[in-house]
Amino acid sequence: MKYVIIGGCIAACGAVEGIRSKDAQGQIIIIDGEKRGAYTRPLISYFLSEPSKYSDVDYRSPDFFKDRAVETIKARVELIDRPGQLLNLDNGEQIEYDRLLIATGASPIMPPIPGADQDWVKSFYTIGDAETIDRDIEAAREVVVIGSGLIGMKAAEALFKRGLKVHLVEKESHILPRQLTPGAAVSVHRHLARQGLDIITGEEVAVIHPDHQIELKNGQKLSADLVIMAVGTRPNVELAVAAGLEVRQGVVLDDYLRTSDHKIYAAGDAAETLNVISGKQEVMALLPHAHREGYQAGRNMAGMDELDQGSIPMNSVKLLGWNICSAGVTGARDGELLSWYSKEQLLEIKVRENYLIGYIAINMPEVAGPLTNAISKKIPAAAGEWQEFVERGPSLATIPSAYWQVLRRLEANGSN
Ligand SMILES: Cc1cc2nc3c(=O)[nH]c(=O)nc-3n(C[C@H](O)[C@H](O)[C@H](O)COP(=O)(O)OP(=O)(O)OC[C@H]3O[C@@H](n4cnc5c(N)ncnc54)[C@H](O)[C@@H]3O)c2cc1C
Repeated sequence: MKYVIIGGCIAACGAVEGIRSKDAQGQIIIIDGEKRGAYTRPLISYFLSEPSKYSDVDYRSPDFFKDRAVETIKARVELIDRPGQLLNLDNGEQIEYDRLLIATGASPIMPPIPGADQDWVKSFYTIGDAETIDRDIEAAREVVVIGSGLIGMKAAEALFKRGLKVHLVEKESHILPRQLTPGAAVSVHRHLARQGLDIITGEEVAVIHPDHQIELKNGQKLSADLVIMAVGTRPNVELAVAAGLEVRQGVVLDDYLRTSDHKIYAAGDAAETLNVISGKQEVMALLPHAHREGYQAGRNMAGMDELDQGSIPMNSVKLLGWNICSAGVTGARDGELLSWYSKEQLLEIKVRENYLIGYIAINMPEVAGPLTNAISKKIPAAAGEWQEFVERGPSLATIPSAYWQVLRRLEANGSN
């Protein structure tokens, strides 16, 4: 069997592990279009904040692919020829496949803001981006970061730590709009502003002028030597679309992570997978999902017919010393909201019919793991137990007893 993987990062590593768990002999080829090997993308902000300390961002050991007899070709795939079961590469090579995995990830969105095409306006998505910014900030004093999602916040934190004056512009009414509710965002906003970040919410950048003035829609102007564009990402689905595969926001998959062509699988940020809370297929652009899906796709490519169990959205980020975890759904229309706060700690949980369906925990890492487990394993509590957990002061000691009982049962059955 000849397995070919397009993209050589997180989902690709998962897929190699998945294939090799069932097939020690089959030929595996990775087409690495970024030409940087498998690295831990979330670590690029650590690299930017302290390049000497975080120069190693490898995702796996340097011998990972060699030890698993994986050949890597540093080239980009230009076309998937489905009838011929082969790929055209930009170096002129053609590669045949028996089973193909699309693990092409995502790319940053560059909105059509006038002036956004200037060379001091950067995205922050690859280790190459981080290296370029590292060089450019030698002579820089001020930066505007556009967008306060996870990537924008991490870029802002890294540049702040490097001593730059950071202006963060977010068009939504609060920071981290996909991770936090407005209430939870207030405390994080205050914390970051107290440290010295200039955060402007509910505003959009109108023009990036060549004289390094960044004009907002309300007319306010900010100076910047550098602009980081972090307004979101888009799955890399061009190859799948051109090949006639079914694509919505990401590549559409069945329960076995197969595309509409059953010789072709997809995983990671390029694909839509099951959100077990909403029951919907969606793109969950997160590292653990990419690895897990890659692994599962790899096993199925190697002949296993295992149903994908789906994932829940979850996140954990540390920003200037504050630990912010969230998982499940936290949106305004879902479930009953119960909240608790004390000094620098905050917990919001969402409960629907005695099931925990989402939470936000600020500076409470000890409860984050069990709460994520309770959501992903759909553990029901007795009526009122989640309320009691919040009212008595959330801690490991006050987690509903049903949680520990179910966990022990799952452990005894070997399914945890
Ligand atoms: C700054 C930053 C911070 C992040 N922080 C977090 C975090 O805290 N937690 C978290 O869970 N996730 C985080 N993420 C997201 C996480 O990195 C991604 O979910 C994960 O990398 C997805 O893995 P993937 O293998 O699907 O795609 P990627 O890692 O994007 O890899 C896809 C690879 O495919 C290559 N490729 C694309 N097209 C082609 C082609 N035609 N031919 C050949 N190769 C191609 C790409 O160049 C790329 O190298 C962060 C991302 C960034 C950028």
